[in-house]
Amino acid sequence: MSETAEAPGPVTIVETPIHLDYKFTPGVAQSRFLRALERGEITGQRCPKCQKVYVPPRGACSMCGVATDEEVKLSGKGTITTFCVTQIPSPGLVPPYVTAWIRLDGSDITSMFLIQECDPAEVRLGMRVEAVWVEESELVPDLGNIKYFRPIDEPDAEYETYKDYV
Ligand SMILES: [Zn+2]
Repeated sequence: MSETAEAPGPVTIVETPIHLDYKFTPGVAQSRFLRALERGEITGQRCPKCQKVYVPPRGACSMCGVATDEEVKLSGKGTITTFCVTQIPSPGLVPPYVTAWIRLDGSDITSMFLIQECDPAEVRLGMRVEAVWVEESELVPDLGNIKYFRPIDEPDAEYETYKDYV
C-alpha cells in the first residue's frame, strides 16, 4: 500500500438528515396551553399550595403533588436568565445566533427560545425581551407560533428577581 494521494483537509461538518414520527397526546392541561397558543396567548397554571406558576402547565405541581387548575394569562414579556451564543451553523440559522433561557413575567419556570433582532454581543443576563409571533393567519396549537424573542426598551431586571433561575 502506497501513500500517493495528498491527505484531504479535516472534515468540519457532516449533514445527517434524521426524522422521527410520533404522536403526542397532550392531556387536559397542555391542551388548554396549546389552545391558548392558537389564540396568540401564553398561559400557565398556578399551584394552589405554593403559588408557583408553571408554563407550560403539566396539570399538577411537581413539588406539592396537587392539581393546578387556576389558569394564568402571561404578557409574553420576560427576562433572560441564561444564554448561549452559537458559532456553528444550524439548519435555518446563521451564526452567530443566541439561544436563551427566559423567565416569562408571572412564571416560575424558564423556557428556551431564540433571541433575534439584536447583536449577539449585546445579549446579557437580565435583559428584557418579548415574544415575536407568526402572523395571526398562521397560528396553530404549537409553541412554534413564537418565532423568537427580541429586546424591548426597558431597564434590565434586577438580579434579585431572576437569581434563582441562573
Ligand atoms: Zn406547589
